[in-house]
Amino acid sequence: MKTLGLLGGMSWESTVTYYQEINRRVRQVKGGLHSARCIVFSFDFAEIEELQHAGKWDEAGLLLDEAAVKLKLAGAEGIVLCSNTMHFISLNIESASQLPLIHIVDPTARAILKKGYKCVGLLGTRFTMEKDFYKARLTEEFGLRVIVPEEEGRATVHDVIYTELCNGIINETSREKYYKIIADLKKAGADCLILGCTEIGLLVDEGGSELPVFDTAHIHAIAAADWAMGIEGRKENKSLIL
Ligand code: GLU
Repeated sequence: MKTLGLLGGMSWESTVTYYQEINRRVRQVKGGLHSARCIVFSFDFAEIEELQHAGKWDEAGLLLDEAAVKLKLAGAEGIVLCSNTMHFISLNIESASQLPLIHIVDPTARAILKKGYKCVGLLGTRFTMEKDFYKARLTEEFGLRVIVPEEEGRATVHDVIYTELCNGIINETSREKYYKIIADLKKAGADCLILGCTEIGLLVDEGGSELPVFDTAHIHAIAAADWAMGIEGRKENKSLIL
């Protein structure tokens, strides 16, 4: 089994999810007392968030590259970046660390296509919903249509992520707002929903959603564990330098 290097802390609330899901998957597949070989580099999210909102993406990208190098030196064989947003600046991670990056979009898109859906509603930070890096990968590499909420909905989704979910706050009113936004995405033509922020799964589940849910934290963690065990997804994942 290969050793995974997790770039987490963005926020640590969802890094917990990754750690659990990766280990659960290894136990499910290999049985007994098996668990994942992994190393976690957990950032101070306050520093990351400040750079994001100041638009200092190059600086944030350097932090990711440096941390990936440290993971490599510690024995990691593949990198898992536990944040959708930070994939915006993930381009140099592979060349800096000389390790493959298991990209969060790819297993998510494959799971959606496998179920036959064609038009995704996307919830995430403003950066993920508004910049092109995420939508373009879904569209150009996987042929999916992408719909994001209107401005008011995007503001709500973004603010709840940073002021509540990344602080471990789960608020019933926010949950209802999210479900309303999801209903609007369905009216706009979405046939499924990407939880394109790794903390949203703490708030929203399929039970209250009018759309079938694809949770990136869960899907990405399973894909990483499967990659480490060498059982799936290797050849399909174009971002891997294997
Ligand atoms: N974890 C979140 C994401 O998946 C948002 C926090 C961050 O900016 O990393 O985008």
